Amino acid sequence: MTGTNYDVIIIGGGIMGSSTAYHLMKSEQSKGKSPANGMNVVVIERDFSYEKASTALSMVNARIQFSLKENVQISQYAFKVLENFEQEMEVDGVKPAIFYRREGNLFLYDEKAEPAARKAFNMQQELGCAVEWWNPEQIKKKYPIYTNLDGIIGGTFGSEDGHFDAYSVLMGYKAKAKSLGAEFLQDEVVELITDKGTIQGVKTASGQTLYSPCVVNCAGAWAAKVAETAGVKLPIDPTRRQVFAVEPEFKPPYPLPLTILPSGFYFRTETGGLLLLGKSMAEDPIGFDFSWEQERFELLWGELYEFAPVFESLKLVKGWSGLYAMNPLDSNAIIGEWPEIKGFYLANGFSGHGLQQGPAVGRYMAELIRKTEHVLDLSIFSPERVLFNKPIFEICI
Ligand SMILES: Cc1cc2nc3c(=O)[nH]c(=O)nc-3n(C[C@H](O)[C@H](O)[C@H](O)COP(=O)(O)OP(=O)(O)OC[C@H]3O[C@@H](n4cnc5c(N)ncnc54)[C@H](O)[C@@H]3O)c2cc1C
Repeated sequence: MTGTNYDVIIIGGGIMGSSTAYHLMKSEQSKGKSPANGMNVVVIERDFSYEKASTALSMVNARIQFSLKENVQISQYAFKVLENFEQEMEVDGVKPAIFYRREGNLFLYDEKAEPAARKAFNMQQELGCAVEWWNPEQIKKKYPIYTNLDGIIGGTFGSEDGHFDAYSVLMGYKAKAKSLGAEFLQDEVVELITDKGTIQGVKTASGQTLYSPCVVNCAGAWAAKVAETAGVKLPIDPTRRQVFAVEPEFKPPYPLPLTILPSGFYFRTETGGLLLLGKSMAEDPIGFDFSWEQERFELLWGELYEFAPVFESLKLVKGWSGLYAMNPLDSNAIIGEWPEIKGFYLANGFSGHGLQQGPAVGRYMAELIRKTEHVLDLSIFSPERVLFNKPIFEICI
């Protein structure tokens, strides 16, 4: 075949694509081969400014508080990786600075949510997670500015949860993967090439044809568009989510954890005396829409003020929108080889929790492709469940 040949082609250079590239190259290096003799991996990314990539537009929260065991384990893995990330990604003496801040996550529950929350809490404790159940008095004692706890019967506090600089983590993976021999190519994949149920490669917008027996879809919210070119109907809806950065007149004397109300409204402190606010809503449109609305900000400000009236006065600094890659079947990730096309792998559908899943999923993808032993068994997320319409359940999404 004429065209360039690769062992692996990765479509999309966000957290998933870059982490997968790194783990593919790392496992090769650990086998003692030099990168030049090792795997031939290319990441095709259409926009290296990452202007619309979800990785660059997120709230960058990492939390242990999920209800599905595998999601908790993925976060436990991420916590370990993030602790050591700057050392692990050092290239020629330069380390990324990821500003990993473990300021906690506080989920608040009403009566309706309590039974499921208790069940998830017990499971998290069994897995050894740093999570505590607080009653309303304990919540008020710890955060006296949360004066309106009407209807809240308790909360769970994950003391090791936190946030980090997503762009630095992305750049860290990318730089390290490149240093180990991965190629990063700026182009857009416009077509998957298949033959008799086997992947052959991709065609790009610039007119290139790249061949490989292994193609990984890491196209985030655009994953369904990519898959469609091979006739695969992937259940991934690009769904707009809005975030706001505000400067309150009242400055809390200590960082506030990411605090999530039963309505789904959430906020946390950010460096520079800012607060970040957000809320996923049923009416959030599906499509590639990056606009944000003043009315949404006013609504969220109202919720914040009602919960913590000290935030009566604040200034909107900026708003932005990004896309969740939502899987309408069960809102969980779809990870693995698509059963109907040999060699076509998916790392898709991470809705609002893909950043923290980047380290574990990138590693798992590399293990799948290289057919090596798994550090974490993530087969529960395999794409078969999409074909057979078998959802898995996670309440903390
Ligand atoms: C507002 C918001 C808040 C969030 N908050 C959190 C949070 O607190 N914690 C958390 O863990 N996660 C959060 N997320 C989710 C997280 O950001 C995503 O799950 C994660 O970044 C997905 O990474 P990705 O690599 O799959 O996708 P992306 O980062 O979107 O990367 C996909 C890349 O593929 C490229 N691409 C697409 N199509 C093509 C093509 N045909 N050819 C070449 N390149 C292509 C795109 O340009 C893009 O760069 C949030 C997301 C949003 C939008």
